[in-house]
Amino acid sequence: MNTSTPVHAAAVILIFMSTLTSPNAVAKNASKASQTATAAFGPSNPFYAPSTLPFKAPPFDKIKDADFQPAIEAGIAQHQAEIEAIANNGAAPTFDNTIVALEKSGMLLDRVMSAFNGVTGANINPTLEEVKTAMAPKLAAHEDFIFLNAKLFARVSAIYNQRASLKLDPEAMRLVEKYYDRFVHAGANLSEADKTEVKKLNEEASTLSSDFSNKLRAATKEAAYVTNDKAALAGLSDDKLAGAAEAAKSRKQEGYVILLQNTTQQPDLKSLSNRDTRHALFEHSWNRTERGDANDTRDLIARLAQLRAEKAKILGFPNYAAWKIEDQMAKTPEAALKFMDALVPAATAKAAHEAQDNQAVIDSQHGGFQLEPWDWNFYAEQVRKARYDLDDAQVKPYFELNNVLENGVFYAANQLYGITFKERHDIPVYQPDVRVFEVFDADGKHLALFYCDYFKRDNKNGGAWMSSFVEQSRLLNNSPVIYNVANLPKPAEGEPALISFTDVTTMFHEFGHALHGMFSNAEYPLLAGTSTARDFVEFPSQFNEHWALYPTIFAHYAKHYKTGAPMPEELAAKIRKAESFNKGYAMTELLAAAELDMQWHMLPPGGPLQKSDEFEKEALEKTHLLVRDVPPRYRSTYFAHIWAGDGYSAGYYAYLWTQMLADDGYQWFLDNGGLTRANGDRFRQMVLSRGNTEDLGKMYETWRGGPPNTKAMLKYRGLEENPK
Ligand SMILES: [Zn+2]
Repeated sequence: MNTSTPVHAAAVILIFMSTLTSPNAVAKNASKASQTATAAFGPSNPFYAPSTLPFKAPPFDKIKDADFQPAIEAGIAQHQAEIEAIANNGAAPTFDNTIVALEKSGMLLDRVMSAFNGVTGANINPTLEEVKTAMAPKLAAHEDFIFLNAKLFARVSAIYNQRASLKLDPEAMRLVEKYYDRFVHAGANLSEADKTEVKKLNEEASTLSSDFSNKLRAATKEAAYVTNDKAALAGLSDDKLAGAAEAAKSRKQEGYVILLQNTTQQPDLKSLSNRDTRHALFEHSWNRTERGDANDTRDLIARLAQLRAEKAKILGFPNYAAWKIEDQMAKTPEAALKFMDALVPAATAKAAHEAQDNQAVIDSQHGGFQLEPWDWNFYAEQVRKARYDLDDAQVKPYFELNNVLENGVFYAANQLYGITFKERHDIPVYQPDVRVFEVFDADGKHLALFYCDYFKRDNKNGGAWMSSFVEQSRLLNNSPVIYNVANLPKPAEGEPALISFTDVTTMFHEFGHALHGMFSNAEYPLLAGTSTARDFVEFPSQFNEHWALYPTIFAHYAKHYKTGAPMPEELAAKIRKAESFNKGYAMTELLAAAELDMQWHMLPPGGPLQKSDEFEKEALEKTHLLVRDVPPRYRSTYFAHIWAGDGYSAGYYAYLWTQMLADDGYQWFLDNGGLTRANGDRFRQMVLSRGNTEDLGKMYETWRGGPPNTKAMLKYRGLEENPK
């Protein structure tokens, strides 16, 4: 039973949570339609039997859109039959006949869902959108079929209660506890009436989440900025202009199209010199889901917040966040709030200084206006150029994507952990831009398959993420099949892909997740790889970002794509120095989004539907984050992390929490000799290979030699009280 969800870049992000991890009911009466579909499922369906490709890689050369729905329906039916058999077993419950049996169940559903999640996240089409919408409530119901099954829970409980006398090894003990907690968390201890109510709420929530994704995707596409007036786009580079013309062409439109990113701020706001264009582009982004049309999400999220509060009440919690954070490293919403509140003064003070710097540029140019959010990046870029004399156009020729990948991202992993990579052209992919590498351990043995799908597409979710097609498990004899997806600009045919340092960081970030998946050495799939708490899972990824600037790594990949010349030290120094630039803004916009998430999810049950705009304003005011020119990184109505699934709901703070872990952890490396195989191997052995096989706080402390603190975080994020 695979329960992992995709994980996302802190810097870039967007999502789609696996529907498998969201809620809900039925199954008792599989509908006529689904029986028909199940009947149509047979050996000709590529999901029917385990993949015969190397390492059970999905047979994308054989998978057609029409194969998914029957396979998902058959997968659910098959898994439910297996669950029934485990629940109704006449023999007394044992670890093997219950817990291990659960771990071995649902193989067909895992096969199809891992491929389905991969393709719908990165290469969706209208047919797959329909399948996704149709399947969302069934998958949610399926989750409840398992975790609200009274007979099954009775068996799990029995094992849990005798666990001390079962002579289980530590990982097996943890597995029993995790199963038990998971059942209780889902409501297994509730009365039948309450369970029915929870199922109903889950079902509605999953439908709303699925609607939210569809609306947001459509709204984001719809809100692209379109113009025929080249002058309106003054300031864009020739590449960007060509890209905008290309985007228009592919949408069969005249002129130029600037596609929106998932975040509030848009990358082109940095270079557009026409203030009206900036304002318009910003408004397109900010209001994308608040246009009073069919894609307006205000009512939807208000209802979703209400549903979640109701569910928490039934489960015995004061609010949804309390229920959600119970099994996290932070344990309570109050701990998360306290951690964030302490960062607010340093972040907003730094942002205020940055705003002054920006305003000074406006004034020096006799702009005669006050800085607005749509001006921020344009003037910040000028401050950056003036202060650091650093220009993206100058550095990009040193960051050719493939070179960054092989001589940067892969090289760092080789230096730390000894692993090597070889591209394979015989493994089928779902889209021609996808590449596949086989990863070998230091001793030359196979370790994993790694897919990467880096270029932006119109039919891809925004941001960047990692997930797996096959999750590692010794029990199931699976080696990991991992993928990274991003939205880096695709160059014109025959041109090199030159990327920004931010994009370089994204690649290191996602690969940090990939390493967490690839080094996994767990017996049980439930505890493998990235199946950890949200406020832990972004630790390996953000930690891995640090190596992008490590001197020997940087020197190895930052080379001119034409001449191979290393980046001049002067320029490299500027990149390093510029790292502390605009950090007040970055931290403040993240804190604002994280606080919004928390406030929505700390609403008490029984309250009225909130008016999204008012609620948002009050929530930011209350937390001292209503900063005039620093809007939240995501507005409530397009905050996909928290509404498109429930994976990051009441969990966005985790990005900051894990920044603390990542920076504190990197500091350990620096204090202990920096980049060495010994340090890498120790980290791999004590953290990266351990998945969720032990208490995460304890795992961290054992490796680090103490609990984490924010000291390194404030230093690396440029927020120290007395910076050098
Ligand atoms: Zn991430």
